[in-house]
Amino acid sequence: MDDIRAELESHIALVPDFPEPGILFRDLTPVFTRAELFRGMVDAMVEPFAGRYDAFAGIEARGFLLAGAASMRTDAGVLAVRKAGKLPRATLAESYALEYGVARLEVHADELDPGARVLVLDDVLATGGTAAATCSLVERAGWEVAGVAVVLELEALGGRSALKGREVFSLLQA
Ligand code: AMP
Repeated sequence: MDDIRAELESHIALVPDFPEPGILFRDLTPVFTRAELFRGMVDAMVEPFAGRYDAFAGIEARGFLLAGAASMRTDAGVLAVRKAGKLPRATLAESYALEYGVARLEVHADELDPGARVLVLDDVLATGGTAAATCSLVERAGWEVAGVAVVLELEALGGRSALKGREVFSLLQA
């Protein structure tokens, strides 16, 4: 596990002032191009929740890569959590505050069986707004949140307190 952490640290690119001044963007695209590292990362993210999930919630867009890969490594499928207006059937929607403005995520209301256990996957946990909105969608749909797993947690931004009562796992902390 420590090996993969060191390897990941060295392949996450730090991009200052993206997408706006003052933000240090953590770019995981160099990890996605390395199949063995990508696979090891996904295995390490879901391993703490083994036997406790039926589906992976992938948050558009980078969460899609994680959830798709996790699905191929396990027996659980993908719940697509999409930005507003992309899903064609009846949806549930959750709006949440971003640093500037508001974002909205949606799921198909009937996508999983009642009581399905959903593990939420994303690359970076910052303020926790995105993950919290996803958890709330999962519960409003009648499913259960198995937990939240991310590659990198930006601890100073307090994402964990937005997810109080949830099991949160991060591979790396900064
Ligand atoms: P938040 O809702 O504040 O926890 O933000 C998390 C979402 O924004 C995730 O989907 C991340 O991909 C993205 N994000 C936030 N901050 C960063 C950052 N510094 N580097 C890369 N992605 C970020």
